[in-house]
Parts: sequence; structure tokens; C-alpha cells
Amino acid sequence: MSDPVLSLTGIEKVYNAGKPNEIRVLRGANLELKAGEIVALVAPSGAGKSTLLHIAGLLDTADSGTVMIGGKDMTRRSDRRRTMARREDVGFVYQFHHLLPEFTALENVMLPQLANGASRGEAKARAVDLLSRVGVAERAAHRPADMSGGEQQRVAFCRALANAPRLMLADEPTGNLDPTTADQVFNTLMSLARETGLSAVIATHNLELAGRMDRQVKLDEGVLVPA
Ligand code: ADP
Ligand code: MG
Repeated sequence: MSDPVLSLTGIEKVYNAGKPNEIRVLRGANLELKAGEIVALVAPSGAGKSTLLHIAGLLDTADSGTVMIGGKDMTRRSDRRRTMARREDVGFVYQFHHLLPEFTALENVMLPQLANGASRGEAKARAVDLLSRVGVAERAAHRPADMSGGEQQRVAFCRALANAPRLMLADEPTGNLDPTTADQVFNTLMSLARETGLSAVIATHNLELAGRMDRQVKLDEGVLVPA
């Protein structure tokens, strides 16, 4: 048995601790994600989906609990080592693309690879390959502002996968798109994930899309339960 790609144990998160507006968002959330598994995270707005994904993706820290990625405990690592693990092992996709506006699509997919030590030639070849797999190769020289919302998200997927992470975390990745585009972009994401054997947690409000993933979990009073 290989280690789970992601293992969250007893994750707790409180905002504004000790203040009148204290909010206990996560109250002992547990999740185990197997290799190649794609899990939908469904919950109403404000339930803590983004908080959970940010903690899982090492973008934020929990108040207690353990985050393991690929069997390695990330909880007590230094910021520098968490950053390295995030760069290598995790691809994060936001609801709004967060591409760098002054760079082209190609450059946006090359940059994480260059930051991770790839040569320009390697980074470019992989970026071109990824962009063509999601059907936006002809947009490679465009800046984000000159692409449609669906194209921007496809490029954002490529950027997230640029360093071939084992884990993708996507926070309502089709939430900004019209239903038809959302459906197409979601299909692209699923086939890309399946082709590459990626494991993923994908937050969505869309129950139809959630139903097409391997299983569904929801946040209920700060813990994860089967949906
Ligand atoms: P979701 O993604 O499910 O909509 P979030 O994780 O964004 O939920 O937020 C969960 C709750 O925590 C919300 O009530 C939100 O207002 C609150 N929250 C999120 N981030 C912060 C923060 N940095 N400081 C204080 N409260 C926050
Ligand atoms: Mg959110």
C-alpha cells in the first residue's frame, strides 16, 4: 500500500481567537486521499472550504492537527521547507485564475518550473505540451487579459500542474464561468487529472460536477463527512 497522497488529521482553525467575533471554522476535520482519487468538497459559502484547502495546500497553517503529503508530515516543517514542498507536490487552482497579468500564458506556465530549477528549454517544452493538452496552445503568446474566462482557467490548470505535483487542490475552479464553459473546463480538468494519475480535492457548489468525481465530502460544523 502506498501512502495516502494527502492526509489531514484533526484539523482545527479558529479566526479572531478570544475576540467577540471569534469563529471556529474547522473543528477536527479528517480526510485521506488515495493516489489517483478525485474528491469533491461541497459545502455552502462560509463553511470553511477555502480555509481547509489553504491548510492542505500549505498556504496557511492549522491551529492543531496534522497535514501529511505523500506520507511526510508537513506540520512542523520550517516555512522554507513548506514552500519547497508546496512548489513540488501541490498544484493550487483558485476560483479566479490569479495568473500574472504582465506575462503570457506560456510564461505563466514556465515560471513555476524555472523557480523549481528547470532550464528554459525544459520549462518551455512542458508548458507547450500542457497548454496543447487543454486546448489553448494557440493562446500561448496571449496575456491573461486577452483570453476568455475559460481559457484563463485552463492556463491556470497548466500552471498548477507545471511541476508535475501529485496533488491538486482546486477552490471552486469553475465558479466564475457560465454553465456551458464550466462544464467544458471541468471535463478538461478531469481528463488531465486522470491522464496524469493526479489526486485532487475540488471544492464546488455544483452538485452535478461533484457527482462526477470519485466521492463527495462536505463540511458540516467544521468536520468532514460523506456527502
Ligand atoms: P468557504 O470557502 O467555504 O466559503 P472560507 O474558508 O472562506 O469558507 O471561510 C470560512 C469562515 O471563516 C467564513 O465565515 C469567513 O468569513 C471566515 N474567514 C475566512 N478567512 C478569514 C480570515 N482570514 N479572518 C477572519 N475570518 C475569516
Ligand atoms: Mg471559498
